[in-house]
Amino acid sequence: MAHYARNDELHAARTQGRAVKALCGTRFQPPADPSRLPVCVVCQQLAAAWSRG
Ligand SMILES: [Zn+2]
Repeated sequence: MAHYARNDELHAARTQGRAVKALCGTRFQPPADPSRLPVCVVCQQLAAAWSRG
């Protein structure tokens, strides 16, 4: 499952190899290739709400 997280948190997680907190509240390890995974529906809705303002 691929989750959304803030870009700066994702960057820190990738460079430091630690878990990141997703928009939905789940802690996860960013996958190397998120495009191959199904996207978390909760994260998707939260990200859409943010982009709408
Ligand atoms: Zn999520």
